[in-house]
Amino acid sequence: MEPRKLASKLLAIGVSELRLDEPLAMHSTWKIGGPSDILVHITDTTSLQKLVALAREDDIPLIVIGRGSNILFSDDGFRGIVAKFGKSFAAARIDGQDIIADAGIWLPRLARLAASRGIAGLEHASGIPGTLGGLIYMNGGSLRQSIGDMTKRVWALDENCNVIEMSAEDCEFSYRSSVFQHRNLIILRAHLRGTPGDPRDIRKRILNVLAERKHKFPLKQPNCGSVFTNKPEVYELAGPPGKIIEDAGLKGLRVGNVMVSTVHANFIVNLGGGTSKDVFELISKIRDVIYCRIGYWLECEVRYVTPNGDIAPLHKFL
Ligand SMILES: Cc1cc2nc3c(=O)[nH]c(=O)nc-3n(C[C@H](O)[C@H](O)[C@H](O)COP(=O)(O)OP(=O)(O)OC[C@H]3O[C@@H](n4cnc5c(N)ncnc54)[C@H](O)[C@@H]3O)c2cc1C
Repeated sequence: MEPRKLASKLLAIGVSELRLDEPLAMHSTWKIGGPSDILVHITDTTSLQKLVALAREDDIPLIVIGRGSNILFSDDGFRGIVAKFGKSFAAARIDGQDIIADAGIWLPRLARLAASRGIAGLEHASGIPGTLGGLIYMNGGSLRQSIGDMTKRVWALDENCNVIEMSAEDCEFSYRSSVFQHRNLIILRAHLRGTPGDPRDIRKRILNVLAERKHKFPLKQPNCGSVFTNKPEVYELAGPPGKIIEDAGLKGLRVGNVMVSTVHANFIVNLGGGTSKDVFELISKIRDVIYCRIGYWLECEVRYVTPNGDIAPLHKFL
């Protein structure tokens, strides 16, 4: 459907926080990506339900994003609707050690909030620049922890646009994986349970986490975090992906305007004006070299979004 016509249809059903021809580079921490026909900021569940129903009825591709910190968008952008979780859908309620937080909440904010109320368990996520929804989708985390470890329930929009309540078991959490990667569900909010702690100790641990990440990661250049997954079988074979890539002498390898970081080899940084084509070519080169050295194809943690709305780990599109 012609984007302007689609925009008027969305306005007519009350979806008002929308932009036409929005550059997706502005919604990705890699700062890469062409325009999306439409980008909508999600404000409430009812208008999201209407939006999803309309997209399904009219067969319009729709994807959901948070901060775009684990996504590569195409240089050609996206021919449909990008629905973004962020500040407008980011409330949190705390009762004892229980937190009920919306999908759009910014993880560093959530970790600080938990610390201030003496809830331990989210320190590992304090330096992850994404939303709670994105972290649950990825079952992400750091320091050998994952968000699934403290998730008790998730409320999501199912394939029929109904709000469903899911137990931790329903979420099928495993290493960097969850049911949300295999079913068409939109995470709305989650119930997390931490453990009691002294706010000063928790804050201290957060500061340590942040200091270590500042030292280890190239945080000043646009990037998407770890490009490749640290799967236990590869780890046992040759160590973490950063070390494998560094040992292969690939730090500083450059294609166009993207480069393997000289600070941490599992990061690819955008030197300015980098493209998705550059990233594809660089990832392909890295994988080829590593396969020749250790006989294993590195798998991507980062997701690629095609202009038609397919999303999968990037290596699946090579
Ligand atoms: C500097 C840096 C450091 C990082 N460090 C870590 C780390 O230590 N550990 C770690 O695990 N990750 C890390 N990441 C990666 C990333 O921040 C996390 O995966 C994060 O949780 C993604 O959240 P997001 O909101 O940015 O998701 P996005 O990148 O916007 O989306 C990721 C995927 O989740 C889906 N998604 C997002 N929100 C929803 C929702 N509400 N419902 C359904 N699906 C949804 C999207 O469709 C997409 O497929 C890092 C990234 C950067 C840039």
